[in-house]
Amino acid sequence: MLDNKPFYIGDIEVFGGENKRINLKLPKLYNTPANLPIHIFRGKKEGTTVFVSAAVHGDELNGVEIIRRLRKLNILKRLRGTLILVPIVNIYGIMTLSRYMPDRRDLNRSFPGSQKGSLASRVAKIFFDEVVSKCDFGIDLHTASIHKSNLPQIRTDINNEFSFGLAKAFEAPVILHSELRDGSLRAVSQEKNIPILLYEAGEALRFDETSIRIGVKGIVNILREVKMLPSTMSNKTKRLPIVTKSSQWIRSTHSGMLRTIKALGDTVERDETIAFIDDPLEDISFEIKSTFDGVIIGKSEIPLVQEGDAVFHIGRFKNLETAETKIEYFSEDAIEQSEFVELNKEEVIE
Ligand SMILES: [Zn+2]
Repeated sequence: MLDNKPFYIGDIEVFGGENKRINLKLPKLYNTPANLPIHIFRGKKEGTTVFVSAAVHGDELNGVEIIRRLRKLNILKRLRGTLILVPIVNIYGIMTLSRYMPDRRDLNRSFPGSQKGSLASRVAKIFFDEVVSKCDFGIDLHTASIHKSNLPQIRTDINNEFSFGLAKAFEAPVILHSELRDGSLRAVSQEKNIPILLYEAGEALRFDETSIRIGVKGIVNILREVKMLPSTMSNKTKRLPIVTKSSQWIRSTHSGMLRTIKALGDTVERDETIAFIDDPLEDISFEIKSTFDGVIIGKSEIPLVQEGDAVFHIGRFKNLETAETKIEYFSEDAIEQSEFVELNKEEVIE
């Protein structure tokens, strides 16, 4: 079916077959005008409506690059339905290299927002009402917080069959079932029956090429899964992720210099040493051990630690041999440039 109904963002009309760049007005930053930049792609044919957002935390940049690469793919010419890309949600945070809003609030704890609330709450309301609430589901791109890094992973509610299916289609190395947090985009959207997948990969204020490639490819995989893009001709075997139902941060037992001996994606056994805390002046070291079997999905990147600091994020997983084989799949060259060439071939629009 041809899609003749206009789609509205703000007072801008977008018809089937049109692509538009929209600047949605936000509260000014003092005397500087501020806008929420949005790219909207509408296929000629009816289909699902999906948003992809990044930099809800202003210092998390991998997603900005993932969206930049995504919107240049020729395969989008074959889109069915509506794809809304919001590369920088916290446009204030990105200016100051900060996770937070200028009012020091976390935008991802300010949903669904209110017109009369704080600055963060007002921006949350505009983004939620104008984008999120008009979609069937969304993909929100994040990285670890400052001085930490994450193994590429999808976080979602694995008890929701639709979300779990999408999470598997994404083909990130790990799927982590994660609890909802009050005021987060994911919690509020779920209440309105709009499932959200969170892609968490890499570090704040850094680009990570592997995370970016897995991200771009993952979004394309999902658009294929929901028939917004034609299915692939390649018969490459699907990458099967590790699914972990819970995770826990291992904290530093002492203050000092952190010397890690395990990397992201490594498997660890219960009681295995994962790092040392060295005293910088005396010849004293303390071991940090894992308290359960699992896979390292996040870690601290700063060698200075205080007692109690979170050092390693471990996803619980029993069969470590299987985990190792699966993770190997996602090594540096797991997603080769050649896979993107296919997406960029000029394709005839039917
Ligand atoms: Zn984040």
